[in-house]
Order: sequence, then C-alpha cells, then structure tokens
Amino acid sequence: MRRQRNVKIVATLGPASDSLEMITALHTTGADVFRLNMSHGSHEEIREKHAMIRKVEEQTGSTISILADLQGPKLRVGVFAGDSEELVVGADFRLDLDTAEGDASRVCLPHPEIFEVLKEGASLLVNDGKIRLRVKSCGADFANCEVVIGGTISNRKGVNVPDVVLPLAALSDKDRADLEFVCGLGVDWLALSFVQRPEDVAEARTLANGRAAILSKIEKPSAVERFDDILEVSDGIMVARGDLGVELPVSAVPPIQKRLVRRCRAVGKPVIVATQMLESMIESPMPTRAEVSDVATAIYEGADAVMLSAESAAGSFPLEAVTTMDNVAIEVEADPTYTQIIESSRTASRSGIADAMVSAAREIAETTDVKAICCFTQSGATALLTARERPRVPIIALTPLKDTARRLALSWGVNCVMTGELDRFKKAVVGAARAAREEGFATEDDFVVVTAGVPFNVPGSTNILRVAPCDERLIFASDPE
Ligand code: ATP
Ligand code: MG
Ligand code: MG
Repeated sequence: MRRQRNVKIVATLGPASDSLEMITALHTTGADVFRLNMSHGSHEEIREKHAMIRKVEEQTGSTISILADLQGPKLRVGVFAGDSEELVVGADFRLDLDTAEGDASRVCLPHPEIFEVLKEGASLLVNDGKIRLRVKSCGADFANCEVVIGGTISNRKGVNVPDVVLPLAALSDKDRADLEFVCGLGVDWLALSFVQRPEDVAEARTLANGRAAILSKIEKPSAVERFDDILEVSDGIMVARGDLGVELPVSAVPPIQKRLVRRCRAVGKPVIVATQMLESMIESPMPTRAEVSDVATAIYEGADAVMLSAESAAGSFPLEAVTTMDNVAIEVEADPTYTQIIESSRTASRSGIADAMVSAAREIAETTDVKAICCFTQSGATALLTARERPRVPIIALTPLKDTARRLALSWGVNCVMTGELDRFKKAVVGAARAAREEGFATEDDFVVVTAGVPFNVPGSTNILRVAPCDERLIFASDPE
C-alpha cells in the first residue's frame, strides 16, 4: 500500500475496530501498524484480531506491522456491573479486593501490594489522571476515598499513585503469559509498559528470544532519567504521554517528547508519539485545532510514527481519525519549513562505511532528481540507517525476510518490498529498479539510488552505491555482473 507520506500511523484495535472490513478500511485509509493492547480483551479476542490483520495483509498484498502492547505493572480497576459509572465530586468511593462487579459506591482494585503501602491523604489518579480520588481511610484490603475530580469511570481503567513508591516488578505473570502467547501467534513488536531500567528490557528480550523486536514505553520519571541506557537496549521507543503526564506535571511532557524524539533519531531507532493525539475524535468526527497541531508537531519533530489509542479502539470515528492523521502528515511534509526543520535537526553521520554510504545516498537525493533510495537489507539495519538520514525521497527496502519487512513498517519513510535471495549486484540493481517502477515511485525514464553490500548476505556490509536508470535494458547494457 503506497503512502503519500513518510511518517507512519499506528492504530490501536478494540471493539470499534474488530471486523475484517474495519481493519481493511483502516489499513487502506492509512494505518501502517496495528496495536493490540494486552490490557483489554482475552487471548481469544487477540487471536481473532491477529488473524484478521494477517488476512488483510494477504488480501491487500502489503506489509503490516503488529505491535503487542504488554500491560506491565500497571494498576487497573476491575469491571463494573454496568460497564461504567459516573463519579461525582465529594462522593465516597471504595476500592477493595472483592472481585465482584463494581457499582457507583465501589470497585475492585486487584492489587494487594497497593493497599499495603497506601496512606491516608494519598491521591489516586484514574484514567490518565482524568479522575482524582483522595484516600480518607485504608486497610490491608480496602481504601475509602473521596472523589476530588469526578468523571466517568469504566472497566479496567488505569490507576496511578504518584505519591507512593510501589514495589513493582517489570513483567507480571500475566505479561509473561501474554508475551509467550503473542510471540506464538507471531507479532513484530512487543511494547513494554512502565519500563524503569535497562534491566527491565533485558528480561523481555530474553523471553522473546528474537521472535519480536522490543519497544520501550517511556512513561515513568525513572525511565526519562535513564533514557539513554534504555534506548541502547531497545529496538524502538514510545513516548507514552498518558501515564507520563500523570507521573510528571503535564507541562513537562512536551520538552521530554522533543528530547526523546531527537535522541531516537540520532541513533536511528523508531520512535512513536502516542496518546490523546486526536482524543476529541472519540466522540466527534472533527478534531480540535489543538489536536491537529499536536499531530503536526510530532511530524515536524521527525517522529517515525504517530498513534491512535481509544480513537480507533473504542471511538465512534476510527476512519475519520486515521484520515485526519494522514491529511495532516501529507500537508506538513509538503511544507518547505518541514524539510528545513528535519534537515537542520539531523545529527551528523557516525563513522563507519555503512553510515557514510547512506549519508552519500541521501546527499545524492538532495542534489539530483533521483526518485528513491533502494537498499537491500536482511536484518533491517541498512534500512534503519537510511531512515535515520530522513532523505527527501522515499526509501525502498528490499528484503527476502517477511519479519524484517514487517518490523520496518514502523520506520519513517520505509516502503518494504519482498525480494528473492540475491547473489549478483546486477540482479540487485534490476530488482531495485523494477520495485521502484512497480510501487509507483519511478518510471522507465527515472533514476534511483541503489545501495547494497557485496558479498551478499553478510550483515552490515553496505559498500556499493549505484545511481541506476529504471530502464532495465540500460542496466543490462551497462552494468558489470
Ligand atoms: P495503555 O496505558 O496501555 O495505553 P489504555 O487503557 O490507555 O492502556 P489504550 O489502548 O490507550 O488503553 O486505549 C484507550 C482506551 O480505549 C482504553 O482505556 C479503553 O477504554 C479503550 N480500549 C482500547 N482497547 C480496547 C479493547 N480491546 N477493549 C475495550 N476497550 C478498549
Ligand atoms: Mg499507558
Ligand atoms: Mg492509553
């Protein structure tokens, strides 16, 4: 599915988007990556959604990435008899360990460890901080609270306790079971919630054992403090602004977002900006101007992807939300100021042959009329290096590995094309030119840049750069074997 933009769109699936028709429509409208949130829905539901995504991929002939988001040590309330309740300011509301369905007076908070450390006067923030409760009295299995800021509370909403240090492990038993389950199904990315230290990432990586790439969600102050160490051991990052804006003052979030996006760009790892991007579109077909501006800001910063949460999972206008992001992206990326910002915020290329090659490819794309940069990649590393350059032309990543192609679907500007195993450079150039034509990036009269590593199939050996015509007869006539 050829896009008119470089930034990617991640759409969370949920009750508003769990039919084959809807997932197809979301993908055709613009969703490149689907997020399955393990906090909501049973394994059976996850299995069905996963199968539907793979079916859409097959039917459209495109490459789609699946990101499974592990709940992590997130505190959540249980469920309500009527799915939701209205909490009114000043009312009493009790949290306890009773697993019975909740009502307007109480709900289960199935975390004994939280009651052990809760204190009178502590604040509990529900649903990314939209509702605030204050503890009036508490014991080993309950907390009687007063509603300080009211609102609608519904099934499994998240709870933060910023005043109290909680003794939480990085992965819960549920996370380990979920990880095994989704790796068995075959997902491309695993997102880890509430990462605090690089060690948290290491455990998940060992369990995933190469079956999925690891993305760390940055939503704890400690993760912000140790960001560089976490980035080093992660394959990608999510700026998870929901919990971040509860654990820290909301005003601290935009500078953190800017810094994290820049750091990720500098090392060439994909970064997603997430949460509340088009929040009002849960209920309205039109976004607010501020939301449009927020999406645009993330794109101007050079983020790899922007994400929809409840907008596509539980909202009334999932397709409109994707279309809005798509339109904003096309408009922003056509703005000359965007090119200026992206190019002036690029960090210098690092040393090494592969870095020098992709940087040269990018310069050629800046100064000539080539239509694409084509790179051959096994692990995806060369495509990531090329994306790091944020070139002015599309990147075509040719790979024989479906898993590599799917992981790369999250990365800025990367269009993946499947190719056979290669043994000759001439064949590679012909394949690249053909892919550029077939994907609609170039015609026979155009030129593309092709990078590859010879000998083939040796990782990290990018060492050839060819500005090639897209007319195969010319390649055959001129190129050495
Ligand atoms: P996280 O902290 O991991 O982002 P979340 O609860 O904020 O968790 P999102 O995936 O961001 O979840 O989606 C936002 C809201 O959309 C959820 O709080 C929930 O109300 C709704 N939602 C999302 N996915 C589902 C689902 N599969 N089933 C039911 N509701 C869902
Ligand atoms: Mg979160
Ligand atoms: Mg969320």
